[in-house]
Amino acid sequence: MIYLVEDEKEIRELVLYTLNNSGLPAKGFEDGRGFWQAMAKEEPDLALLDIMLPGEDGLAILRRLRSSPKTAGLPVIMLTAKGSEYDKVLGLENGADDYLAKPFGMMELAARTKALLRRARPEKGLKSLALGDICVNIPGHRVSVGGKEISLTLKEFDLLVCLMENKGAVFSREQLLRRVWGFDYIGETRTVDTHILTLRGKLLSAGELIKTVRGLGYKIGEGGSE
Ligand code: CA
Repeated sequence: MIYLVEDEKEIRELVLYTLNNSGLPAKGFEDGRGFWQAMAKEEPDLALLDIMLPGEDGLAILRRLRSSPKTAGLPVIMLTAKGSEYDKVLGLENGADDYLAKPFGMMELAARTKALLRRARPEKGLKSLALGDICVNIPGHRVSVGGKEISLTLKEFDLLVCLMENKGAVFSREQLLRRVWGFDYIGETRTVDTHILTLRGKLLSAGELIKTVRGLGYKIGEGGSE
């Protein structure tokens, strides 16, 4: 269960909708009071905290979480105001695991939440992904198509996992470069195309699940959620 504290109703509803549709059950609270009441009854897997809140603000909630042995290890992502370096630094100094600057994209939110869950509690994060004939065992770095194991390079594997974790979502070549090769990678978007090409080949008949979206980039599968 993921807890979200956000006083803006629209953002709260959008985030909850996104998480629940990404296979991440989530509950929302408009302030710290509701959050602490729920915390007394249940142990969530991760918390998303807005900073500017009525009453106790997000940083105060974070400090309180970190000061209690029971909640000190709870993975926390801070939702910071647009361009506020100060909020970001304060959040990280107070023990936040990650932050998202508003306005953030919903795809980004789901991806970062999943990444933190995996990092924080590998045994609780996503272990396997499946689509059509493709099965991916993430911790084991193994991929099979129709029950037959195939061998992928590290980047092909990361590329496939990135697409499969976000079925139906279109990624531009630049986004894939950033996510799979990292922010510091100086490369050309053609790198993505060549890896997609070899990945499709190795996936055999399931390779056609990776779609080229003209003028935009790539996606895997059809709908937004499957
Ligand atoms: Ca707020």
